[in-house]
This record gives sequence, structure tokens and C-alpha cells, in this order.
Amino acid sequence: MGGSRRQNRVLAAPSFGALLDAGPDALLAIDADGTILLANAAASRLFGYSRDELTGSNHWMLLAAGFHNETALLRTRLAEQPDKPLPPREVYGLHRDGTEFPAEIACSLLEGDGSQILLVSVRSTGHRKGGDADLSEAMSLLTATLESTADGILVISAEGKIAGLNEQFLTMWGIPPELLEAESDEPAMQVVLSQVQDPGQFLARVTELTANPAAESHDVVDFLDGRTFERYSRPQKVGDRIVGRVWSFRDVTPRRKAQEQAERALTDLAVQAEQLRSMAFRDPLTGLANRAVFNAELVRALKPPRLKSVDILLLDLDDFKEVNDILGHQAGDDMLVEVARRLQGCVPTADVVARLGGDEFVVLLTACPDADAIAECIVRCLHVPFSIEGSMLRPSLSLGLASMGRQAQGASELLREADIAMYAAKAAGKNRFLRFHQDMMTALVQRTDLEAGLQLAVGQGEISVDFQPIVSPRMGRVVKFEALARWDRGDQRVPPAVFIPLAERSGLINGIGSEVMVQSLKQMASWLREDPSRSLSMNVSGVQLQELDFAERVLELAETCRVGVYQLVFEVTESVFFDADCNVIKQLSRLREAGARVALDDFGTGYSSLGRLQDLPVDIVKIDKTFVSMVRTGDERLPILSSMINMAHSLGLTVTAEGIETDEQARYLIALECDSLQGYLFSHPEPAARFDQALRTAGQALSALASRSGPT
Ligand code: C2E
Ligand code: CA
Ligand code: CA
Repeated sequence: MGGSRRQNRVLAAPSFGALLDAGPDALLAIDADGTILLANAAASRLFGYSRDELTGSNHWMLLAAGFHNETALLRTRLAEQPDKPLPPREVYGLHRDGTEFPAEIACSLLEGDGSQILLVSVRSTGHRKGGDADLSEAMSLLTATLESTADGILVISAEGKIAGLNEQFLTMWGIPPELLEAESDEPAMQVVLSQVQDPGQFLARVTELTANPAAESHDVVDFLDGRTFERYSRPQKVGDRIVGRVWSFRDVTPRRKAQEQAERALTDLAVQAEQLRSMAFRDPLTGLANRAVFNAELVRALKPPRLKSVDILLLDLDDFKEVNDILGHQAGDDMLVEVARRLQGCVPTADVVARLGGDEFVVLLTACPDADAIAECIVRCLHVPFSIEGSMLRPSLSLGLASMGRQAQGASELLREADIAMYAAKAAGKNRFLRFHQDMMTALVQRTDLEAGLQLAVGQGEISVDFQPIVSPRMGRVVKFEALARWDRGDQRVPPAVFIPLAERSGLINGIGSEVMVQSLKQMASWLREDPSRSLSMNVSGVQLQELDFAERVLELAETCRVGVYQLVFEVTESVFFDADCNVIKQLSRLREAGARVALDDFGTGYSSLGRLQDLPVDIVKIDKTFVSMVRTGDERLPILSSMINMAHSLGLTVTAEGIETDEQARYLIALECDSLQGYLFSHPEPAARFDQALRTAGQALSALASRSGPT
């Protein structure tokens, strides 16, 4: 009942047409083929057409291009689901003057006779436009920003669905856009996980952040292909409400590569700097510390607070020069390296083991209860033979030990004491250690004093020459004299074994050598001239042979003294041949060309071998007295002596044996067909004044030999 009453009231109201015209929204009735059947006054106002113009026209003229299908779409929807309310649609309408305006349309269907009429209400939304424009401007700005940023951005809603992303995100992760249209995010996630080095960690972070919506995070994602992304994540908020999470990814591969490169360059630099530093502090050959390090450490050790003990072990290899000269510098280097290795092994607790240069090493000990034991151990350990390129070498060294005393001492003072002790060890026969003692200072003072004296020796006429006969058993007479230098210092005779090495070290040997040569030639000239088969042997050291005019001066001297050069013999030790200096060979060759002979002195000592003999430019071999002294009874078998002599003979060399003191020795060597003999048995070296006496005793000794061996 109520219903009919209301209907009545409506009917009683203004007419339907008037009602339509009074409506605020434009209202259109459109038939199935799009023709406008009816339009109200608001429609006429909105579009700018008269009602007559509208009626019967196609409604498309009221819609902007692109919206013509809107009505058909709506009609279908309404027909299919009549009960479902349809939200208004946004479209663009078209004024009569051709301008477009935004509008909202809402539709409903009206059953007509046989056909359905679409009722369309149109409301201009131009008034909203201002706000929308701001919003869409902001939106487009945001989109532009999102799309132009190099970061890949993904927004996940609070429900865990993808709420937004930019192109860059897809590109960076190589996700095909169609994957995102899939129902689940799973396939896209698989694409992501398949690329990262540690998918577990990647997922863990995602899970962790999902559980903590308010958390922010920043980490790094490493890719299997070598790329690196920085991953930022923060909650997406609207006001205070968290509505989702924003993930942003930045490809930092180039930056990281540059960083790595820079880091590598820095480490390289650091390594180089370290190398340079260690080169400055380390001996490059042996890897030991160098002098600078040792000095610094020693100074530090001696500084207060006073340590219990400070010991310096200074050591120098014995005869290292010969290893270098004879076996070559490589062997010398090998030996130094081996010595360094052994040294470090001997004193693992040392504060510093350093090579001071050449063949000089030093060990610093600051907490050693028994430095003497260590010193002894070093001498012993280093003396063990080792082989280098087939040669057996037996390093031998002289070690000086100095320790911090009760009184404070400076570093240089302590080092000097060790040095003095080391020299004392050498003088005492090498291959040993000596602890510094105040008496050694006296020895040092003496040595310095000796050198000072030697400097004046020639000028003050203190140098003289003794001559020792050399006999030929075959010829039964003295065939040669060896000139031996003598130094009478005041009323004291200094042995050649002391002053000759000193003279060689100080270079004084040149002056002394010439003096000896001049005196010898002058004093022997007449004896030599009497018989061309007689000769004079003179010792020459390597230092002298380094003089460029050595041979010429000798030849001149021989001429002045009217002595045949062929009557001269020059005795050299084999070390002179192994000096890098080829001048030595040149000087000797010049003398040999002129007819002089060269004798290899002290043969068998040092590092020489029989095999080396054939390469040397020598004519005579002098077998060292140590071999001769092996003959005691004369019955012993000494193959070394016979091989030396045989070898020399087979090379066309003549052999002289030195240091013959007994009958047995003479006989033994005669039996081996040694060419010449020299020694106290025949005569001690004598000054020129006792020349005749020397000749006489030598002759007597020879005939005694002959008479005793003759009849048997
Ligand atoms: P050297 O050339 O081997 O000289 C032989 C040494 O043996 C000499 O010692 C000589 O006195 C010694 N001697 C000779 N017969 C015997 C013997 O039967 N038994 C023993 N035990 N010794 C004997 P000296 O005169 O003391 O000379 C020592 C070294 O000094 C020489 O050894 C030589 O290397 C060097 N020397 C001597 N005079 C000169 C010189 O004018 N110039 C150079 N460069 N060196 C020289
Ligand atoms: Ca000699
Ligand atoms: Ca000799």
C-alpha cells in the first residue's frame, strides 16, 4: 500500500519531463545503435547542442575520440550482470565547439519495447581537474623519476604482492615483464635467485624484513656473473602507517671494480714499499739483516735500562777471496748463502744476524747465558763441508767475541773490540774464535805500528834479500836461487809471513817488490852471467802484476843488469790467475814471450786441483812443503806426490819440491823424478854476502846424497 501512495505522490509532482530537465546531471537515453532518443536540459547545456540537435544524432559526437566504445562496453556489462552495480567511468566528453572535458558517466538499462535503452548520466568533472592535475603531475614526476633513476625499484604491498616497480628493476634482474602478470610471484623470484651467488642469504634477508615491516636494511648482493648490487630496503609508509616495503637495487659493479682495482693498486704499492724498505734493511744476497739494522739494534741494546748481557760475535770467512777467485763469483755467492743459512740455524735466539758486507757477518745476542759456547758452535757448524758445483768446500771462519763489560760502552767501541778479537783469531791460525782481551789491543797497536814501519822500510834501507839455492839432482849442482825478502826493523827481523801479507794489503808490496828485484838482479847478475843454465827465481804477488808496466820494467831492469830474461823465473801463487783482471795474464805472457819462466808456487795448497794445471800459463810447479813433510821414513806410499809430479811432467812442466829438510825426503822425491829440490837440507836462505857458503853447503849436501844413494 505504502508503495502506491508514494507513486501517487510522484505522479502528483511535476511532470517527468520537467523533472528530467531540472536534474543537475546531463541525462541521455540512447538506443541500441547509439542514437540519442532523449536528452535533458542539462545535457543541452553541457554539450552546447539544442535538444533537437541532440535527439536523433549519434551520441559519439559527444565523446572524445577513444571513448566511443565506452557506452557499448557499459551496455554489455549491464546486460550480462544486471544486479552488479557499475561504478562510474571516467571519459572525455566533447563540447560543440570541439573542446574536450573530463567527465564521469554512469549508466543503467531501461527496458523499452523490444529493445533496451541505455540511460546515461554525464557529469563534468572539470571542477576536480585542478586536484587531479596536481596529483597526476606529481604522479608523472614520480614515474619519470622512477624510470629515469638507475636504481631498480620494487614495491611490495603489506599483503606481499607486487605493488609497483620500474623498468630498470626488470632490466637489472632480467625479468621478462610477462612473468609479473602471472598469478604468483614465484617465477619472478626464481629468476632473481638463479642469478645471485648466495640465494639462501638473499632469501633470508627478504624473510627477515618481511617479519619486521618497520626495519630498514642495506646490504650487498653478489651475482654469479660478477656483478654486484647494493640492496636498500625501507618500509613504505602512508602517514605513519606501513603499507608495504620498497626495495631498491643499485648496480655498483663498476664502482666495486674500480674500488677493487684501487685496493689492488694500494696493496701492490704496499708490497713495493715493503720490498724497498726491506731492501734498505736486508742484505739482498743472503736475506740477513744489513749493517744499518745491526748498528741500530746494537745501539738500542746498549741503551739503558741496562740488559743482563750484550754479546757481539763478529766473524769473517777465512780465505774467501780464493773461493771467489778460483771457483768463481757464483760459488762465492753460494758459499755466503750457505754460511748465512747455517749461521741462522746456529743462533735461532739471536737478536740480529747480519751480513756486514763481503764475507763478514755479525751476530747480536742480548740474553745469552753462554756466548762462548755459541761462538764455538758457530765455528764448528760452519766448518762442515758442502758441495758447490761438484767441488767440496769447507767454510772456515775466524770469529771475534766481545761482550758488554761492567762499564758502559758505546756501540762502536764494542764492535771494535769484536773486530780486534776477530783479527787475533785470524792471526792465531784461523778457523777459531777468540774472546776479546785487553792484550789484543797491544797486538793491534803493534800491527798498526808495523804498517807504519813498513812504510819507511824501503826508504830506510831496511829491506834486503836472502838467496836460497835450488839444486838439480840430475846435474848434481845448484841451478837456481830463490830471492826471499827480508825486513830488519832496527835489530829485529820481521818474518816475511808477517810483513808480506801486510804489504800486500796496504799496497806497499809494489815498492818492496821492486826493491827486492833490483837488489836480487844486481847481486846475482855476475853469477847468472857465468852460466846461461843458471837462473834466478823471484816471488811476485798479484798486486804487483796488476801494474800495467810491470813486465816492461822487469825487462828494462834485466837489460840494465845485463842478465838474460830467459834466466828469470817468476813465482806466483795460483790465485793470481783467477782475478778478473786480465792484466795479470798479459804481464806474465809478456815476460814468457821474452823468455822468462813462470813457476806456480805453493802448489797443492788452496783450492787448486791437478786438473786445473793444464790451463795455466806456467812452466814450473813448486810442490808445497806440506806435501814434502809427509815423507818421514821414505817408505810410505804417497800417491798424491807421485800424481802431482807425473801430471806436471805429462803437461811438459818441470817440478821443484820445496822444504826438503831430510835425506829421506830428498831421496823420495828424486825417486819420483822431481826435477829440482829446495830446502834447509841444502841451504837456508842466505844474504848475498854468504853466497859462496850457500853454494858450498848445497853442493856438499848434494854429493852426500849421491854418495849414499850411489852404491846401493
Ligand atoms: P815461499 O815463496 O814459499 O818461500 C819459501 C819459504 O820457505 C821461505 O820462507 C823459505 O825461507 C822457507 N823455506 C825454505 N826451505 C825450507 C825448509 O826446508 N823448511 C821450511 N820449513 N821452510 C823452508 P820465508 O823466507 O819466510 O818466506 C815466506 C814467504 O814470504 C814466501 O814463501 C813468499 O811467499 C813470501 N815472500 C818472501 N819474499 C818475497 C818477495 O820478495 N815477494 C813476495 N811477493 N813474497 C815474498
Ligand atoms: Ca816462492
Ligand atoms: Ca812456496
